[in-house]
Amino acid sequence: MLHIFNTLSRKKEIFKPLHGKQVGLYTCGPTVYNYAHIGNLRTYVFEDVLQRALEYNGYKVKRVMNTTDVGHLTSDADTGEDKIEKEAKKEKKSVWDVTKFYTEEFLKDIKDLNIKVPKLLVPATKTIPEQIKIVKTLFKKGLAYETSKAVYFDVSKFRNYTELSRQPLSEKITAAREEVVADPEKRHPADFALWFKLVGDFKNHIMRWPSPWSDGFPGWHIECSAISTKFLGQPFDIHTGGVDHINVHHTNEIAQSEGAFNKPLAKYWMHGEFLLIDQNRMGKSVGNFITINDLKKEGFDPLAFRYLILTSHYRSRLNFSWDSLKSAANAYVGLKHNLSLLQGYSKLKTKNASESKQLIATAVRKFKNAINDDLNTPEALGSIHELLNQLAGLQKENKLNSQNAGLALKEILKLDSILGLNLKNLPKIPAKIRQMAKKRELLRANKQFTQADALRKEIETLGFSIEDTPAGPLVIPN
Ligand SMILES: [Zn+2]
Repeated sequence: MLHIFNTLSRKKEIFKPLHGKQVGLYTCGPTVYNYAHIGNLRTYVFEDVLQRALEYNGYKVKRVMNTTDVGHLTSDADTGEDKIEKEAKKEKKSVWDVTKFYTEEFLKDIKDLNIKVPKLLVPATKTIPEQIKIVKTLFKKGLAYETSKAVYFDVSKFRNYTELSRQPLSEKITAAREEVVADPEKRHPADFALWFKLVGDFKNHIMRWPSPWSDGFPGWHIECSAISTKFLGQPFDIHTGGVDHINVHHTNEIAQSEGAFNKPLAKYWMHGEFLLIDQNRMGKSVGNFITINDLKKEGFDPLAFRYLILTSHYRSRLNFSWDSLKSAANAYVGLKHNLSLLQGYSKLKTKNASESKQLIATAVRKFKNAINDDLNTPEALGSIHELLNQLAGLQKENKLNSQNAGLALKEILKLDSILGLNLKNLPKIPAKIRQMAKKRELLRANKQFTQADALRKEIETLGFSIEDTPAGPLVIPN
């Protein structure tokens, strides 16, 4: 049974979907004004593992993700410039070209990380009428008001505004001081913008739409309320994002959606912790960010980064360093190497009895228990490594038969449907190499050891190695 940590209750809960085997999953997506950094991508990997774990447990997942292509200001609150318009000016491109380019780059990144593309990837600008409709409803309910600069949500009129964050409103007021200066007509410093009018700094805002309150553009949070309700209904099962979304973005989404429709927005809220770089928070605005392209330039397989992410629990901070990535890359290669050994071994014809069946069943059970315990990927990975070590020990003592080697490989590949490490793509042994290995065996049988050794060395220079096992020699990629 799947257990997940619900930020709302601050407890691990048994996952019980709202509608049988169908699961509605909403994940806040990127603001497409720049490349995603590896800290953002860590959150998307966590969400991907969640989706895969749900599917493994027999659920059908409808996953929705927004892309923010308008209205996200340089501060997560309501101050500063529109990030996309700022970037467009810098790159001397149109805002539309900027969002198109970075959306495509985001899709490339998630493909590199073997993250399943959400069924519905919805740009904010494609749901402006739905967003306006929710704001109108909020007006009717007395939860919104207008100033000469913007339309705001009145947090004092909404009960439980701080239910998710558990942050005292007084703290929020301090954080929001800058905004009071930006709009002195705001009633409460914690009120947040639903719609910006084309006045002051935004007089020349390029992306603009008509609305009952004047031409303008939406605030950052309203798109998620509109998109989730449109595609998943309300309430839906699970809403996810990074921990930095709890205090502002998700708190505001709840206020908008629950204020408008008088029912919960989502049953479970899950949040991924930060990735730190040299113990500091990574951020586009700070300028210390690393992208997938940077990892590739340094010669790393993006899946080695995925492996690194899986070695830490999603609710723990992960400190990224090039050394930790290097260790993860070695461990990932080692894992594939061991699986290649298993694959080669499964093709040998052994007749020995095997003690391995029980070990395989135990490892699979441990893996499932770890994943179903709030996605404990480090423990799940550990159970695979433990099994591979045990099997290697048995193999050395000639206590592993080929049939069970094949079974272990099959089971591990099934478990990889959750890890997403693409383990099934093990390197193939070319026919030429296999023939060379056969020739070497013949030479050895004829006691022509010098020639056999020379051939072995030649095989090694071609990127393969031969491992002699009690059941016969095995060729594996290096
Ligand atoms: Zn969102």
